[in-house]
Amino acid sequence: MVIPVYNEVDSLEPLFGKLSEVLGTMGRGFEILFIDDGSDDGSGDVLERLRQRDTRVGVISFRRNFGKSAALDAGFGACRGELVFTMDADLQDDPEEMPAMLAKLEQEGYDLVSGWKHDRQDSLGKTLPSRLFNLVTSIASGLRLHDFNCGFKLYRGIVARGLKVYGELHRYLPALAHWQGYRVTEIKVRHHKRKFGRSKFGAGRLVKGYLDLITVVFLNRYTRSPLHFFGTLGSLLCALGFAIGLYFVGYWVTHHNIGGRVPLLLFAIFLMLTGVQLISTGLLGEMLTSSLHYEREPAYLVREQNLPEKQPRES
Ligand code: UDP
Ligand code: MG
Repeated sequence: MVIPVYNEVDSLEPLFGKLSEVLGTMGRGFEILFIDDGSDDGSGDVLERLRQRDTRVGVISFRRNFGKSAALDAGFGACRGELVFTMDADLQDDPEEMPAMLAKLEQEGYDLVSGWKHDRQDSLGKTLPSRLFNLVTSIASGLRLHDFNCGFKLYRGIVARGLKVYGELHRYLPALAHWQGYRVTEIKVRHHKRKFGRSKFGAGRLVKGYLDLITVVFLNRYTRSPLHFFGTLGSLLCALGFAIGLYFVGYWVTHHNIGGRVPLLLFAIFLMLTGVQLISTGLLGEMLTSSLHYEREPAYLVREQNLPEKQPRES
């Protein structure tokens, strides 16, 4: 289990009680990793007590608040399980749902089962933007889900450990896994009202979420060929500018002046200059990509690999 915690002091004891109860009934080995994301309300002390009490508990404490994505990233880097649950620490997710999520993953052969808060217990100010967000993300990512950003998820270990979660990418984890070729689905989960503490995500979410979506889509589609993006746009602008330029050549030949068409001429020049700029940006991007190529992860993930056995050498 990986659980990010930021100022959830009152929820931790009841959460741990409920979790160990449910995990106990599931009859498998487990560890619970809490990531204390710079809490200053005493959450750290509670976590330390839990760790002293139960050897299956681990705690990673950040020096300051680095955000939920960073907390998940640290958790994914340190977890060892064959399967990895993530869950919010605020008691809004219900540990009772874990057996159903596990069954879905194992029986139907998924790699990631994401919770869907179909009856979400949050204010309208949160649920409405979230609907828009989920719709746009569905369309942009090609993965149809109702709820991308639910903190309650079950991953195969290989999926969780392969995700790089930085910035605010925790909202897009199902999309990232989907793009890597993993099978992703969702399952309805119960959602409770927040009992203690307050929500950490305010109104700035929508703007940030939108910018992150651009980042994610861009990185997925064009990171290995930036020129495809900038070059296409740039070439289009150049071509349009050039066409208008040609028209002026024709006009000059027939009329021997360009009359009152100066604004259009300027526009053509503007188009061509912008186009050239975009193409150059794309080329710079390509240079960056090619020089970083060897330090990067490979561009693919292999499911399995069966190479021919080594042939005995002819002597
Ligand atoms: N969280 C975190 N770091 C942050 C903000 C939130 O680790 O900077 C944790 C928080 O403690 C909780 C989870 O992320 O366990 C979800 O946060 P919250 O309940 O505030 O989000 P909401 O449910 O309101 O979307
Ligand atoms: Mg919450």
